[in-house]
Amino acid sequence: MSYSTAGQYLDDTDDAPVTVLERFATRGVLADEFISKVYSCPECTTEGLQYTTVCPACHDPHAVETEVIEHACGYVGPESEFDADDGYRCPDCDDELTSVDIEKQLRYVCKECSEQFQTPADRLWCRECAARMPPREATENVLYRYRLTRDGKQWLDRQKQARQQIVELFEERHLETTVDTTVATEDDATRAVHVLAEDSLMGERRVVAIHDTPALETVDPFCAFAEAADAHPVVITTSGAVEAAVATRATETELTVLALTEQGTLEAEYETVDEVRPPTDGLFQRLSAVLEIPGRR
Ligand SMILES: [Zn+2]
Ligand SMILES: [Zn+2]
Ligand SMILES: [Zn+2]
Repeated sequence: MSYSTAGQYLDDTDDAPVTVLERFATRGVLADEFISKVYSCPECTTEGLQYTTVCPACHDPHAVETEVIEHACGYVGPESEFDADDGYRCPDCDDELTSVDIEKQLRYVCKECSEQFQTPADRLWCRECAARMPPREATENVLYRYRLTRDGKQWLDRQKQARQQIVELFEERHLETTVDTTVATEDDATRAVHVLAEDSLMGERRVVAIHDTPALETVDPFCAFAEAADAHPVVITTSGAVEAAVATRATETELTVLALTEQGTLEAEYETVDEVRPPTDGLFQRLSAVLEIPGRR
């Protein structure tokens, strides 16, 4: 089971699509709607397990419903065991049987261990790796459909606005500007960035990360990446605030922090907060791509 469409827009360094989607649902950016549950193999994660009944004694599936005869003495066996030349005879007590003594009934008979039983055990089995498991041991996945909420739309618009503003700023300075692109570092690592601006003549590069409230946890690796990519890191806050540690970093190192104002312009003044909730790195990029919002001017 996977959210492959969402997965397309995530980077290798991101959490699994389901984790990212759940995080956005928790934040109210996305609303989740229950669809169904699917069960997958705990051994190999293949979906679409098959149902089978098995012998409760030896757990072999080769147990089939068979017509059996129960004698008054208590012996139960298939009809063939009672067959005698002159009618029916109990193979256990050797009594001759008249039809009155014969009670035919359906029972499961295991072809592997010859156990007889009324109710077989339930199992699911995997067509891929042939693993068999009690139904409760299968991996249960709950499927949701996700859509943007009204808050999510506003949040997205804010991120989009920030990106638009920085692109305009760079283009005014005649920098070659690309949005939602990947940048390679000197050691051949690549990373997705919201905006890349380059002046090939001067050999200058800027990489931009847009967050609602940048935290050091995401800004730190971003700055390390920028250094490795020989680029100047720019972080934009769309809430107008950054984590205090990010502000410190901006004053002490080569890091530019810009804030998106209420009016939708960028400025160098911003507020600080003590701590920020979990990172949302790169999500604007993904959502904008999902919604096919034009990213390039
Ligand atoms: Zn058996
Ligand atoms: Zn008998
Ligand atoms: Zn399997």
